[in-house]
Amino acid sequence: MRVALPSFSAAVRSALAGAVGLVGASCGPMDDSGASGSADLAIEHVTVVDAVNGARADRTVVVDSGRIVAVLDGGTAVDADEVVDGTGRTLIPGLWDFHVHLTYDDRFTDAMPGLFLGHGITSIRDTGGILEKVLPVVERMEAEGAMAPRVFFAGPLLDGEWVVYDGVNRPALGIANPDVETARANVAALAEAGVDFVKVYEMLTPEVFAALVEEASARGLPIDGHVPLSMVARDVGPRVQSLEHLRNIELDCAAGADSLLEARRAILAAHDGGPGADLRSRLHSEQRLAAVADYDPTRCGEVMDALSSTIMIPTLRLNALGLVPPFERGDWEAALDRIPDDAADEWREVGERSRSGPPARDTTYGAFSLRLVGEMHRRGVPVAAGTDTPIGYAIPGYSLHSELEMLVRAGMPPLEALRGATVLPAEFFGLDGEMGAVAEGMVADLVLLGGNPLDDITNTRAVEAVVTRGRLLRRADLDGLMR
Ligand SMILES: [Zn+2]
Repeated sequence: MRVALPSFSAAVRSALAGAVGLVGASCGPMDDSGASGSADLAIEHVTVVDAVNGARADRTVVVDSGRIVAVLDGGTAVDADEVVDGTGRTLIPGLWDFHVHLTYDDRFTDAMPGLFLGHGITSIRDTGGILEKVLPVVERMEAEGAMAPRVFFAGPLLDGEWVVYDGVNRPALGIANPDVETARANVAALAEAGVDFVKVYEMLTPEVFAALVEEASARGLPIDGHVPLSMVARDVGPRVQSLEHLRNIELDCAAGADSLLEARRAILAAHDGGPGADLRSRLHSEQRLAAVADYDPTRCGEVMDALSSTIMIPTLRLNALGLVPPFERGDWEAALDRIPDDAADEWREVGERSRSGPPARDTTYGAFSLRLVGEMHRRGVPVAAGTDTPIGYAIPGYSLHSELEMLVRAGMPPLEALRGATVLPAEFFGLDGEMGAVAEGMVADLVLLGGNPLDDITNTRAVEAVVTRGRLLRRADLDGLMR
């Protein structure tokens, strides 16, 4: 029996391939007759928590051939090759970091897969990297037997005529789409290369944005992005499936949004060269805080209603870096010890400067981001968890737990924060029938926690074991993956 998968890209199918097609051949835990033998794994007497079914006490979860084959009463006798005692522990679906850059900083690339698994992240979405760099990394992560999370990738940021991440002034993450014809050709080439989705970026014109949306939609590729500066959030949101960082949404929440848009378009039209990064910085610094100060709740309510079926990845940890500096966390130094030395040394120094010097970052936008996410959640906008790691001192894996804390701090109940790191990412790729819940038939990506995240979201940090594509990794195995 093959499990039907939606008709997304080849890469989505290959990311799941290890677990697909084997269910029919698997031996059920209840079937201890004849040749079928025992199941691979049973986690007994565990509290199961997921955002689909809520909390269930004292269950035994049985895994075989990469799938969850049964969720039983805790006392049920099960014949399994490996048995884990889940008493006093909580089992949740494998976590996603929904915003990752595997190739932003070469110092991190090779260490990232182990760091993700070590922190309970069994799936990631790479939201921008040029194909020459990102494809070999994806290939290594998907190789038979690789110790890596499932990976879904976009390829490059699809930017406008002026490219922000151009490889000169910023790392090479983006490519130019100066006109409609180039845009159409770029999406065709990305689809050919097997990307799982596309990411539209900030310097696009409305015409080129429309062409990108049309081409991606025609190929069944979901679209992620930033709101282009030539447009407003209420027009962009309904045409894409996810948006990052709350970027440029504040510009549409201002009472003077129309004149802000007019001013941006004039500046964009007059630009005659010079780095895209500088142009973007100029527009942000001229308008962002002015828009926050000019916040109009009625207008913003309309914007949020337009975003009701677009997944928001607010990257609150990043947006509120000045408000909640990672350097001040009690476990920061220990987490730094796990990352490559050159990066750890640099970040340690930044932390020391930050702790001893005056506050370097404005906190207005961070505080605004927290308020906006709380309001979005109350109005029914789906909010998911992504970090942008390794950008903004986001330690791969570790930072996802900080993001979950920030989502709760913004007003989301812990179960809703978990939904944003499990169910919503699966939905984005049309895989919610496969992933995101602890239930019979789902892929066996699981995290065993020392405490219940519904009591305290920081309990997601207490990772005792991870099941990735059906393989059990105990704490010692996970530590080994993190150097
Ligand atoms: Zn990013």
